[in-house]
Amino acid sequence: MDSIKNARCQICDKIFALDAQQHKLIAPMIAKGQRFIMIECPCCGSSTQYVKAEEFLPPQTDVQNYRCPVTQCAGWVDFIDEPTRPFWGCGECGSVWYEEKNLQKEITSIIALYPYRASSYKQMNGKWVPGDLRSEAANYEELVEKEPADDHDALVRG
Ligand SMILES: [Zn+2]
Ligand SMILES: [Zn+2]
Repeated sequence: MDSIKNARCQICDKIFALDAQQHKLIAPMIAKGQRFIMIECPCCGSSTQYVKAEEFLPPQTDVQNYRCPVTQCAGWVDFIDEPTRPFWGCGECGSVWYEEKNLQKEITSIIALYPYRASSYKQMNGKWVPGDLRSEAANYEELVEKEPADDHDALVRG
């Protein structure tokens, strides 16, 4: 579970990564729904109440889907929260990512190849998130259609 890897110190306001011991300590408490957990901040040494770092991020107003980062595909990538094995999938070209980092990597490389793709995403907290659709090129789909095919034709992309 990613959500309990980082915490924010209430004293010095730094976000820090939980060490293995802290993680082991708080994971079961969180699972039980306990909200008040004290941990030590490695930045300032104070005891601080455990606060999930994510709770401080600006709330995402409308959850959007990613533009598919596959060449020649102007489709959308949905997160499919399947209990056995969640994945990201594009309904248009059928590509599937099991690892978010691979989807992220592919976004980085498609933007490097085709700069007009960059408007479909933006950086937030060090990762790509869906961008503002209004900033996409008006002929986005046309541009994408003209892209040469890549040499990766397996549907599972990582
Ligand atoms: Zn601190
Ligand atoms: Zn696609």
